[in-house]
Amino acid sequence: MPIQELWIDQKARAAGYAGAAAFAEAHALKPYRLRQLYRAATKELAEGLDSITVLPIELRAALASEDFRLESLEPVTVQRSNDGQTTKGLFRLHDGNEVEAVCMEHFGDRTTVCISSQAGCAFKCGFCSTGQAGFTRNLAAVEIFDQARFFAREVKKKNKRITNIVFMGMGEPFHNYAAVLDAVRLLNDPHGFGLGHRHITISTVGLVPEIDRFSDEGLQVNLAISLHAPTDRQRSALMPVNRRYPIAELLAACARYVQKTRRKIFFEYVLLAGVNDDDETARTLARLMRGHLYHVNLIPYNATPDAAFGGTAEPRIRAFQKILDEAGVPTTVRVPMGRDIAAACGQLRAETQPRAKAS
Ligand code: SAH
Repeated sequence: MPIQELWIDQKARAAGYAGAAAFAEAHALKPYRLRQLYRAATKELAEGLDSITVLPIELRAALASEDFRLESLEPVTVQRSNDGQTTKGLFRLHDGNEVEAVCMEHFGDRTTVCISSQAGCAFKCGFCSTGQAGFTRNLAAVEIFDQARFFAREVKKKNKRITNIVFMGMGEPFHNYAAVLDAVRLLNDPHGFGLGHRHITISTVGLVPEIDRFSDEGLQVNLAISLHAPTDRQRSALMPVNRRYPIAELLAACARYVQKTRRKIFFEYVLLAGVNDDDETARTLARLMRGHLYHVNLIPYNATPDAAFGGTAEPRIRAFQKILDEAGVPTTVRVPMGRDIAAACGQLRAETQPRAKAS
């Protein structure tokens, strides 16, 4: 199915219609009209039906009277950090569920949007705010895509464009595999949003079958693995998923991925004071990582209202990084953004979901 039809199909479904074919038929909508609609929404980033002047006014009126919506989600609140670089959007889906996404305008030309793939998350990582509240539902491809589209329209007002998309918001992308891959197609489509695969990163908790499946997609999309600990004892304590896919199995899948795709893997490692940040743990991690096409991204922990963890202090982060450096493992330390609006990594949790205590 051509991507345009896919989009319309998803859109029609999100709006409660039976599907694109039935919808197009009911409105005697020609395929080229569907394509115009698609192009206006995804490439030209139209704000609403009214602004799509390429469509005859009667058609726009007919669509409007059918309650055809261009958006699958609507912004409820949009908050901006004090430094103005980070914007968090809380979006309501058609069924009332809410998800968050974050736009980061880095210095220079880079603008990254962090998007959600699910309302809630089923994996219950002990340090993650989304995980604490549990799973509500998968997002449709268009609901994932529309988070990016929303921020693309926002930054367009400043003559900027989205340069990177990361699936690091709420949810586990590989637990909603098909919709996430469809969303990637929507983001990538040169006739639409037009973002290169290499500018997209999917982050997973480490689902082995899906890593294998992803290896076979032949996509240039970046893969990030949330590792967070180098031994099964430590990792299982932080991430229950490790009991299902222990480290040896996970790393075997990673090795297969690199062998098949020749692409580097990014490992995320959130540093928790006194839990996974000592020298010995760093050395164990270095042994797992070195000699492969692996890059370790050290993430300063962002305190969440309900978690029992503290973040590692800066000197310890540097000492940990030095051990990896000396073992020849490439690392970066992530710069936290948007902490003042609870928009930093792992802090996303829609307001409809209960908080353990007020933040
Ligand atoms: N389910 C995906 C995406 C999760 S969010 C995954 O597990 O990879 C992206 C990253 O933020 C993950 O590595 C996650 O473990 C990390 N993270 C979660 N809570 C955090 C917090 N409070 N501070 C810093 N990073 C956090």
